[in-house]
Amino acid sequence: MECTKCGGKMAEGTKAIFGEVFGCTRRDPEKLEELNLDRVQPYYCTECGYVEFFMEKRKG
Ligand SMILES: [Zn+2]
Repeated sequence: MECTKCGGKMAEGTKAIFGEVFGCTRRDPEKLEELNLDRVQPYYCTECGYVEFFMEKRKG
């Protein structure tokens, strides 16, 4: 995946990188289903730090 800002490499954001800042994106999948929400995965650019969110569609 390429950064749309600088063309750098995008990496999957983890708790180690984001801390609690995007904690809302790491909800328990079962809980999300219960709330009828889609899971969102943050990615960040390793070059400029740009962050993008990608929605992961639930099954069905
Ligand atoms: Zn970038």
